[in-house]
Amino acid sequence: MNQEILKSMSVLYVEDDPATREEVSFFLERSVKVLYAAKNGAEGLRLYKEHTPDLVITDIQMPVMDGLEMIEAIKRRKRDVPVIVTTAYHENDYLLSAVNIGVDRYLLKPLNLIQLRAEMVELLKERADVTLYQSLDVSGNILEINDIWLDHLGYEREEVVGKSFWDFIHSKDIEQMTKDFFYLRDYGLIDNVPFKLRLKDGTYAEAVLTGHSSYDAEGTFERTYCEIKTIDAFMRSEEKVMMLLERERYLRGLITIHAQIGKAILQAESSQDFLQDVTEAFVKESVYAFAFIALLEGEHRLEINAQADHGRFDIIELLGKSFEIDDNDCPSCEAIRKKKMVIVDDIRKLPDFPAKSAYERSGINAMVALPISVRMQAHCLGVLTLMFKDVHTYGMEELELFENISETVAFGLQAIEDRVEKERLIRALDIQATTDALTGCANRHRGMIISKDEVKRAHRYERPLSLVYLDIDHFKPINDAYGHEQGDQVLVAVAESIRKVIRSSDEAVRWGGEEFLIILPETEERSATILAEKVRLEIEQITLLSTMRITGSLGVTQLLEGESWEAFIVRADNLMYKAKRNGRNQVVHA
Ligand code: GH3
Ligand code: MG
Ligand code: MG
Repeated sequence: MNQEILKSMSVLYVEDDPATREEVSFFLERSVKVLYAAKNGAEGLRLYKEHTPDLVITDIQMPVMDGLEMIEAIKRRKRDVPVIVTTAYHENDYLLSAVNIGVDRYLLKPLNLIQLRAEMVELLKERADVTLYQSLDVSGNILEINDIWLDHLGYEREEVVGKSFWDFIHSKDIEQMTKDFFYLRDYGLIDNVPFKLRLKDGTYAEAVLTGHSSYDAEGTFERTYCEIKTIDAFMRSEEKVMMLLERERYLRGLITIHAQIGKAILQAESSQDFLQDVTEAFVKESVYAFAFIALLEGEHRLEINAQADHGRFDIIELLGKSFEIDDNDCPSCEAIRKKKMVIVDDIRKLPDFPAKSAYERSGINAMVALPISVRMQAHCLGVLTLMFKDVHTYGMEELELFENISETVAFGLQAIEDRVEKERLIRALDIQATTDALTGCANRHRGMIISKDEVKRAHRYERPLSLVYLDIDHFKPINDAYGHEQGDQVLVAVAESIRKVIRSSDEAVRWGGEEFLIILPETEERSATILAEKVRLEIEQITLLSTMRITGSLGVTQLLEGESWEAFIVRADNLMYKAKRNGRNQVVHA
């Protein structure tokens, strides 16, 4: 890296903390031509106006005038002055506004001085990148050049205009360049041709030429326009393109993750499943090492609800299933405390917190903690923490996407919880509407629907269907002797006796006060009678009452060909009465 560029530069450095200012100034003084140090924005602005330095490095939060205000004032005077902002990691809520006012770089404190110097060099080089322009006539004679062309090669304009371009390139390149020039003249375009420029002092500079030609209405050649970049500038612009492409790919990945989260809102069966889907969506992208979600329980407690599958550690083992946010310095807790996104570019810069060394050991080098909340609502539901494999520099669009994603997660959580609650209510209502609360059997309403359906089905497919009509014997005296509540317990016990005997395809119905129907699809009268007899015996076994026996009378019959539902029920009822008349505690079939 070429640090020479710094030696000719003047730099303004603004920092309110005396110890930091002294340490960084000491370092900068040795790297740059002149350093102006200021302790707040107002002083910085005054120094800027006085000296117009080439580069500004500033803290954000400062007394008198803060860094952002100062940068805005400086940018009004000179729009393209390069600015590096230094922030503590808990100050990053200023970050978005910093990027908006045209800050070029931001570095997290404590500053890594080598990194600071590298960023300065990069920034200044970008500014110093030169492009030489020239236009040539049909024979390759120079018609026009820009001042940078002259500065760079060291000539005066009179020495160049009208001369052949071949006089200004390395003799070894003339042959190839001539061919390229003919091509450019005849076909209109050449791209990135490497060659050596010959400077006035006799030295050579590697460069890259790109050109196009213009033609008049008849298609006759007019002139070529060429853009020449020094090889350094060219390489840097290529690198920049690669970097931008890489960034682009990464952002597309984030957009895909966002879309997947949107889909998960519709598909997840529970909020738990949803949160799991969210963490999994991130770790599918290779830059992320790990992701977890913790939700707030009350105001000060976080509970870990989902974590991506990670071979190397279990976040619950590290932090505990739930923990107090106030006792923990981890970025996830910090994000909840401040209700702001917390970004960490390099985990080693963080103060110690319980899991820090475990994160480091597991190959995690950077992390971001996103509060899960909807922007318009102050209410924070929890925190989504993403961890990167490598030290990570955050981009503006990335931070915006993070904000949108955490908002979608908040929406999703609320939507799914609403939906799950609604489904639970509907299920509860459905059960209430179809089930007898005391015995758990189907109620009369549901029993009617089922039995009517079964009658239809049996007729249509010509299948057997049987019915058992059960009435508890002398139930009134039981109530009278033991009370209504004990009577209820007898009903529960009888229902239990029925359930013990029937199959899952059969249905027990509480048909009236102490009357039950047992609907038996695919069952002929003979089997139904055996089943009824088993029920009768079960009821006899009930030992709920000390002095009274519990028994029942049962009528059994099979649906006749073409018989209506009403007639079928009445026949079963009549058979039950026959059992009563015959002395009760017995089964009577047709
Ligand atoms: P039998 O059927 O043997 O002729 O005599 P029974 O005493 O059972 O006949 P009856 O139909 O006259 O009496 C039924 C009694 O069941 C009347 C009512 O007080 C009681 N009963 C109805 N529903 C309930 C209930 O939900 N809980 C309780 N504990 N008793 C009920
Ligand atoms: Mg009765
Ligand atoms: Mg009865």
